[in-house]
Amino acid sequence: MAALVNTVLGKINVDSLGKTLCHEHFVYGCPGFEGDCTLGGYNRDKALASGLEIAEKLKKCGVKTVIDATTNDNGRNPLLYKEISEKSGLQIICCTGYYFEGGGSPPYFRRWLGKGGEEAIYEMFMAEITDGIAGTGIIPGVIKVASSKNIITDYEKAFFKAAVKVQKETDIPIITHTQNGTMGPEQAELLLSEGANPAHIIIGHMCACTDIAELVKTLKYGVTLGFDQFGLDGVGAPTDEVRKASLIGLIGLGYGNRLVLSHDTVIYWMGRDSQPKPSVKTWYMTHLFDNVVPSLKNTGLTDQQINVLFDDNVKHIFAG
Ligand SMILES: [Zn+2]
Repeated sequence: MAALVNTVLGKINVDSLGKTLCHEHFVYGCPGFEGDCTLGGYNRDKALASGLEIAEKLKKCGVKTVIDATTNDNGRNPLLYKEISEKSGLQIICCTGYYFEGGGSPPYFRRWLGKGGEEAIYEMFMAEITDGIAGTGIIPGVIKVASSKNIITDYEKAFFKAAVKVQKETDIPIITHTQNGTMGPEQAELLLSEGANPAHIIIGHMCACTDIAELVKTLKYGVTLGFDQFGLDGVGAPTDEVRKASLIGLIGLGYGNRLVLSHDTVIYWMGRDSQPKPSVKTWYMTHLFDNVVPSLKNTGLTDQQINVLFDDNVKHIFAG
């Protein structure tokens, strides 16, 4: 039986995923933006218009599906995604999950650590996956977990463990955030030691890691790596040149079936327009198709080698 995938509009067959971006954000808010509601806040009309505009551009590039990786504590907005998807025809998969300790909203679940917190997180994941998110009926297609730079904190470990417990019952894919591409092997080790299936795991932002040995070490666990920050040049991240070098190297080593691509762009930032955020010309949601794919072809990669990164490799995350 073919695997089914939960999009914000309901279940689809895994074969209908098509060309997929594995990690983007239609909306995103740094926790605390809610408090700046007088000057900032959230303009739904603007967020919808921006989302629809980008959806049209993506469709022209042949993209059929986007995984929105915005976590529960960073302003995840399933009803907005649903409207974007209904009006544009772009398939959107949302997640259930929490961000890393320094970037999310830790006080709430941190109070429960050692007092049933992991169980409480498990219950939240299961409720959303079973009944939908907060009465919307929208079911997340992936679980997102995250760790800090050079450490997976106890708070973060509780989410990893709860996610694996859910995956063992439901087969739901787990996607991760690594901070600056650190802790890739440690994330894989933790997930697998809890009993996760590496076929259903994307270790994210690993294109931020410039140590090829570390990338290979992570791949040895059988997981897929997210090369999912293309275009985010400078600002503490490697350049696209370096990302491409790692990507081509890993494909050359035979890992072309376990790499997926995306940009990690944010279409609408919740909060004040003037807030500091990365301003990089190449960081937009069709950059891969406008610039990266053509230059990968110039290096000698074939259409087939490139297409699997967007298509088959994502499909395998869901189908196992
Ligand atoms: Zn992201």
